[in-house]
Amino acid sequence: MLTFKKVLIWLSSIIIIRTKKDEFIYLTFDDGPHPENTPNLLLVLEKHNVKATFFMVGKEIERYPEVAKRIYSMGHALGYHSYDHSHAKDSSYKQVAYELDHAKKLENQYGLNFNGLYRPPYGALSIATFLAILVKGWKVILWSKDSMDSYTDLENVCLNLSKENVKSGDIILLHDDYLNTASTIDLVLTGYKSSKLKCRSLS
Ligand SMILES: [Zn+2]
Repeated sequence: MLTFKKVLIWLSSIIIIRTKKDEFIYLTFDDGPHPENTPNLLLVLEKHNVKATFFMVGKEIERYPEVAKRIYSMGHALGYHSYDHSHAKDSSYKQVAYELDHAKKLENQYGLNFNGLYRPPYGALSIATFLAILVKGWKVILWSKDSMDSYTDLENVCLNLSKENVKSGDIILLHDDYLNTASTIDLVLTGYKSSKLKCRSLS
């Protein structure tokens, strides 16, 4: 018989909010690729020898496929973040299922691999969205630490992500389409050099 605990264990293998406690933290960047801000961020990540995970929007991949391919060719992990960033409350089962099929086409067309990782826009899941994700065999990746880069300035984002404020195993939410992301991450990663924190991509 399925116990409540078993259901929770099953759900936690499909909906990931943080990783099992390990020595790594996971920087994740949503909403790209962006034609200028993403390449600037890639340079910073390369400088610090850090691999991250990019949850990309299908429509933006179609607009900037070369940027998407560059992210992947530099060894970062990819995930999918919907076709056009619609909110789950406005998406039907059919629409999400269609989007996930389209994601497979984008993988083939541009030589990408989303690793079956899906992050719903705004982290919002409806029953219809969740069922479509489940049926199509994807995993939902949320986050344990919001950098708050959508709501606050560079200084506060750096403080939110300082070595004192993140824990090993944290999945950190950021956005690579913002102008300040590259310089913010440069400061954050410089701060991690004097700590035991190591960054890694999800996969
Ligand atoms: Zn988003």
